[in-house]
Amino acid sequence: PDKSRTLGAALTQWAQETPDGVAMRHDDVIIDWKTYDRHATQIANGLAAMGLKKGDRVAYLGKNSWRACELVMGVARAGMVLVPVIWRLAPAEIEFILKDAEAAALFVEPLFEGQAFEGQRVIMDDRFDQWRDGQSDAPVTTEVDRGDVFLQLYTSGTTGMPKGVMLTHRNATVLRPIMQEEGIGWFSSQPGDTLIHAMPFGHIAGVGSVTGAVNGGQQLIIHTEFDPALILRDIQRYKAKWAFLVPAALQMMLDHPDAKDADFSNLEGMAYGASPIPLDLLKRGVEKLGCGFAQMYGMTETYGTVVSLPPEDHRPGREGVMRSAGKALPSCEIRILDAEGNPLPPGEIGEVAIYSPTTMVGYWNRPEETARVLSADGWLRTGDAGIMDEEGYLYIQDRIKDMIISGGENVYPAEVESAIYGHPAIADVAVIGVPDEKWGEAVKAVVVPKPGVHLEAGDVISYAREKIAGFKCPKTVDFIDALPRNPSGKILRRELRAPYWEGRERQVN
Ligand code: ATP
Ligand code: MG
Repeated sequence: PDKSRTLGAALTQWAQETPDGVAMRHDDVIIDWKTYDRHATQIANGLAAMGLKKGDRVAYLGKNSWRACELVMGVARAGMVLVPVIWRLAPAEIEFILKDAEAAALFVEPLFEGQAFEGQRVIMDDRFDQWRDGQSDAPVTTEVDRGDVFLQLYTSGTTGMPKGVMLTHRNATVLRPIMQEEGIGWFSSQPGDTLIHAMPFGHIAGVGSVTGAVNGGQQLIIHTEFDPALILRDIQRYKAKWAFLVPAALQMMLDHPDAKDADFSNLEGMAYGASPIPLDLLKRGVEKLGCGFAQMYGMTETYGTVVSLPPEDHRPGREGVMRSAGKALPSCEIRILDAEGNPLPPGEIGEVAIYSPTTMVGYWNRPEETARVLSADGWLRTGDAGIMDEEGYLYIQDRIKDMIISGGENVYPAEVESAIYGHPAIADVAVIGVPDEKWGEAVKAVVVPKPGVHLEAGDVISYAREKIAGFKCPKTVDFIDALPRNPSGKILRRELRAPYWEGRERQVN
């Protein structure tokens, strides 16, 4: 049975059941469920008063905030479509998204007020509060269906230009009741539990935690942006139950001096994902935090997590499985496909395809791209290479586009990076394929040394030799001060590759 619903209905439920319960905290602001609900109605009415209609796109440009959460729910209740834009992008990239989305209105924080935009604007400070408070709080009459699109979220743009992914109320709400029925506690927090919200709004892990908390009635501890010291503080101060961090953020938190004496005893779990995690980092996290860890694998196109590695698989003795992203969530399925799209048996490497009730309707204005990745029967091609074992554990290798073919052998950069990352003098590392006369492509490591240490290419290469097969080891090493990453912490390998491929076409499978 499909127990999905509209987000507006979910909000109403908590406003009725726990009107005075805290829905969100952000610095000194505390919003309870009844206020959240009333504000969402006023925002929905305000959007209609601006002349916007059902299905219109409403963009948000800003950091995480309680106002932004209210906007999400106002837009959802109005039957309109929210377009959250990652504020860390360059102004030209932001402009591309605003134009591509055909946004009718822009809600923007004062910090980004200079952003070019032609439609109507509302500034997200007390001017927003005044605007909202001036609107009617009469029930919204627009009919909203759970199958309606409410979110148009852009992919991270790791492999190319970001694409607008159209997601529905159903996508946002369908999995939770299934998880609860199946008793998957580590994935479905209880109403009233506190969750740390620190991932950027423009990313599925950010806006997804806002809608997830509305669906499940959890209290969000909102962080304007990721700050390791504040995360450590709030985990303790608010007895947070769960937090989601990307691996790069988890590392920053563990490295922070305040982590030394922090008390993590109330933390039930740490969810991590969005990019491959080096095994050493994961082990260090498990040891330090002493709580449950859950890996999340998913993408914008699947409304986030569809595959997960539960806490019980993060134990000593389970190192093999700790390299895996986990198993498909209930009602989701995984297949590994060959180049022609035929399913492969366990143990063989191919493209990961996912079936999930959370899968997008399609890409906005890109019918060919949609048809390329989404089959008529709802299977999504992820562009990730992976292997599934007999038990259903999925091992993500890397993006197919980033795979290096060197002397006829396939090399997945993530595996090489994970091996090199263990070197005590290395702070960060990326692996790319560069053109090579003899091998077609050669493996190159781009290394960020720890401050003040002396490191030579030979050290890196011989370290890798001890850990992985010779053909996977870097042939050359570059040193760099910092790696280019996108706002969700993913290494932009295409940027690192660009200077080496100038004037040549790189073959992608
Ligand atoms: P674009 O599609 O524009 O290139 P993107 O794929 O990085 O950008 P997202 O939808 O934010 O945009 O990211 C989804 C991708 O992130 C997945 O396809 C996968 O490559 C990677 N990913 C997500 N979770 C994990 C994980 N647990 N382990 C490894 N990789 C992951
Ligand atoms: Mg993608």
